[in-house]
Amino acid sequence: MKKINVNQEACIGCGACVAIDSEHFAFNDEGLSHPISNDNLESTDLANAIDSCPTSAISLTEGDYNTDEESEEDDCCCNSCDGHCHCEEEA
Ligand code: SF4
Repeated sequence: MKKINVNQEACIGCGACVAIDSEHFAFNDEGLSHPISNDNLESTDLANAIDSCPTSAISLTEGDYNTDEESEEDDCCCNSCDGHCHCEEEA
């Protein structure tokens, strides 16, 4: 199943995606966007949000169904790396 990823290193917190598609994006405590839902991935708002990101930080990738909230209890600390951040190794 596909999921939304926001590259936290690329996001500049401009707010475009949050304004366009609040169903899928919200600001985190650092003022950067993060995905809040992986439902309704065919929505026009999501496509527009992805197209509108000035840094191309948003991507849709194949992966486990994980919202950001779920991932905090799961195995990835950032939910943006597709499991390549090695946070478990650093823990
Ligand atoms: S549109 Fe892109 S740069 Fe702007 S807040 Fe969303 S992910 Fe970050």
